[in-house]
Amino acid sequence: MRGPMDGELAPDATSGGAMRRRPAAIAAATLIAIVLALSAIGTANAAPRGKPNQIQYEYVPPKNPAHQPIHDQMKQGRALENLQELLSPLRLPYPLMLKVAGCDGVANAWYENEVITVCYELLAEIQKNAPKQDLPIGISRADTMLGPALDVFLHETGHAVFHMLEIPVLGREEDAADQFSAYLMLRLGKDDARRMILGSAYSYNLQMPQGPHVTVPLNAFSDEHSLPAQRAFNVLCIAYGADKKLFADVVEKDYLPKKRAEGCAYEYEDLTFAMTKLIGPHIDKRIAAKFHEVWTRTISARRARLARQSDTLDVKPDPVGTGGKP
Ligand SMILES: [Zn+2]
Repeated sequence: MRGPMDGELAPDATSGGAMRRRPAAIAAATLIAIVLALSAIGTANAAPRGKPNQIQYEYVPPKNPAHQPIHDQMKQGRALENLQELLSPLRLPYPLMLKVAGCDGVANAWYENEVITVCYELLAEIQKNAPKQDLPIGISRADTMLGPALDVFLHETGHAVFHMLEIPVLGREEDAADQFSAYLMLRLGKDDARRMILGSAYSYNLQMPQGPHVTVPLNAFSDEHSLPAQRAFNVLCIAYGADKKLFADVVEKDYLPKKRAEGCAYEYEDLTFAMTKLIGPHIDKRIAAKFHEVWTRTISARRARLARQSDTLDVKPDPVGTGGKP
């Protein structure tokens, strides 16, 4: 839709006959838009209903030997199997593949053609950035690895869900995927929700220069993602909006400015409305009821193992951490 409309209007902007031709162009574009909009509604109604248990996974052997420990420990910890189970309530029209793979030095993750790829490089980076000790705000070193790793998978799942279920997105899709991830993390038990959210916010903050005044290249503002600091404030706001008590210290300690915090309950309410209305119908409620149980079972062991490892061999940061997420 954007193509034809842009094509029609662009010449008008520079030519002298702009005023005369413009109404016709707009009328044509409007007609096209209406036809497309109507057919889109038809498509949505005709979309396959989907079924649960559509998550598949693959541990692609790393190309870089340095990533072998990440691969091995994720596999031993059944990281992708656990994620598969957590996401199994999603009713999808086609299988969705979760994949960890080497990306030739690129630390990234993406969704494309029903496949989510998370690079070992990105997991290695999360692991490298983990602090040496637990943080004073009450989250452990393990949480600073588990939180961002879980966030990466859930963010990409957000993209996948929008695409596979033809969910309309108003605003920027990258922000919507962040919100999708935050919302799911907040469905965990309180203690885990807090740990994962704060671990994730910690990781975003590390990606920015530190201090009250920062300098970033101008083109950073053109990125389709919000800036890391914005992503951190956004996730904290959603969390605070969801549970003012659980995240009270986030505002008291000024990690989230009071001015933003005032509207967070409304932001969370908007998100809840969208998730309930748009994603809710695609969740198998019976399977979803087991969500907490699955999470608790898988994450507790994982966190304990990460904690033990950082206690004993601090020299060698635990590669699993990253993959460690559920
Ligand atoms: Zn994204």
